Amino acid sequence: MRGTVVAVTSASISGQHDDRSRDVIGDLASALTAAIGADHVLTPADVRAGFETDWTGRYRGSSDIVARPASTAEVSAVLTACMEHDAQVIAQAGNTGLVGGSVPRAARDRDERPVVIVSMRRLDHLGAVDTAAMQVTAGAGTTLARWRDHARSAGLDTPVDFAARDVATVGGAIATNAGGSRVLRFGTMRQQVVGIEAVTADGSVIGSLSGLPKETAGLHWPSLLTGSEGTLAVITSARLRLVPLFRATITALVALEGFGQGASVPGSGRAGAGTAASRRAATPPVASAQEAPSASSRRERSWMRRSSDAGVSASAKGVSAKKALRYSASASCSLPGSAKSLVPGSVSRSTRSGAARPFSG
Ligand SMILES: Cc1cc2nc3c(=O)[nH]c(=O)nc-3n(C[C@H](O)[C@H](O)[C@H](O)COP(=O)(O)OP(=O)(O)OC[C@H]3O[C@@H](n4cnc5c(N)ncnc54)[C@H](O)[C@@H]3O)c2cc1C
Repeated sequence: MRGTVVAVTSASISGQHDDRSRDVIGDLASALTAAIGADHVLTPADVRAGFETDWTGRYRGSSDIVARPASTAEVSAVLTACMEHDAQVIAQAGNTGLVGGSVPRAARDRDERPVVIVSMRRLDHLGAVDTAAMQVTAGAGTTLARWRDHARSAGLDTPVDFAARDVATVGGAIATNAGGSRVLRFGTMRQQVVGIEAVTADGSVIGSLSGLPKETAGLHWPSLLTGSEGTLAVITSARLRLVPLFRATITALVALEGFGQGASVPGSGRAGAGTAASRRAATPPVASAQEAPSASSRRERSWMRRSSDAGVSASAKGVSAKKALRYSASASCSLPGSAKSLVPGSVSRSTRSGAARPFSG
C-alpha cells in the first residue's frame, strides 16, 4: 500500500470544518496515505470515535484523522506530514492512561488546525532476549503482557506490571513513567529504560537502543523522555531491563495500625529475604513464639516460620501479637510453596491486590 494515494472525500471528513480546513485535512490525509497506506489512515467519524474516547469513558475528544504507522520510519513520515500541515498530534497507545492524556481536546476547545491521533499499537516488535545483559528491545506498541511473556519464555521477568497489562503498552508506560504492583521492589519505568528511540515533531529520529550502562555521551534520552507524556517526542522503541524470574512469590496480608507504619514493611521484607543472619534479624517481634503464646495450631506456626524466612512479616510495632497472627494465618492459604526456595529479595507483597485494584503501584 505504501505510496498509494487514495482520494479522501470531504464527506468522510468531520462536518464541523469550513472549506479551507477541509482542503487542508484532505491534503494531509493524502500525504499520510502516501506514507503509511490507506488502510492505516482512518477518517470516518465512527471509526475515529473509539480513538477519541479514553478507557474510562470520561474523556472524549475530537480529531480529524487517525494514523497508524508501523515503524520508526513511518512515524517520522507521519510527523513530518503533520508539521507541514500545521496539525496537532496526539500520541496514543493502549489508551488506558486514566487521566485523559491519550485523547485530543473536546470539539469546543479546538482551533481550526487539523488534529491527528497517531496510534502506536502497530509498533509491537520484540527483539531477542539478551539473557547475559538481562535486556530486551521492544516496540512502543508492545503490550506489557507480551513483554512479560517474552521475558518469561527466556527465564526472566519484567520489573513493571499492572492490571492494564493486556492493553497498556511499553511506550505508554514509559511516557507516563508508570509504576505498578512491583514498584517498591524494582522502581518505576524510569529505572527500566536503558535505551530509547523516538521521533520529534519535525520527523527527526533521536536516541539509541544500545543499552550500554555506561552511556555518558550527550543527552540522556531515557531520562528526558520517560514521563514526558508525548510532549517532547513520540517514543518508537525502547531497550528495557529485565529481572530474575522468581520461582515463588508470597502474598501477605500485613496488619498495620496506621499509614505511618507502612513505611517499615518494604525494608523488613528486603532484609528478611537475604542471608540467614538477616532473616533472623528480620524476624518480626510479633511473629515470635514468645510473644505469641496463643500460636497453637501447627499451620500458624508453620506460616510464621515461612514468612520470617521470606522476610514477609507483620512487623509493625504496635500491632498485638494475637492480631498479627490472626492476619498472618489468613494469608497462609495463598502460599504457593516453600518460601525456602525463594530467590533472595523475591518477596512480592501485592500480586493479588495488584490485579484487583488499578493503582496498586
Ligand atoms: C486497570 C488499570 C490499572 C493501572 N494500574 C497502574 C499502576 O498500577 N501503576 C501506574 O503507574 N499506572 C497504572 N495505570 C495507568 C497507567 O499509567 C497506564 O495504564 C499506562 O501507563 C498507559 O499506557 P497506554 O499504552 O495505555 O498509554 P495511553 O493511555 O495511550 O497514553 C498515556 C499517555 O502517554 C502518551 N503516549 C502513549 N504512547 C506514547 C508514545 N509511544 N510516545 C510518546 N507518548 C506516548 C499519550 O499521549 C498519553 O499522554 C493503570 C491503568 C489501568 C486502566
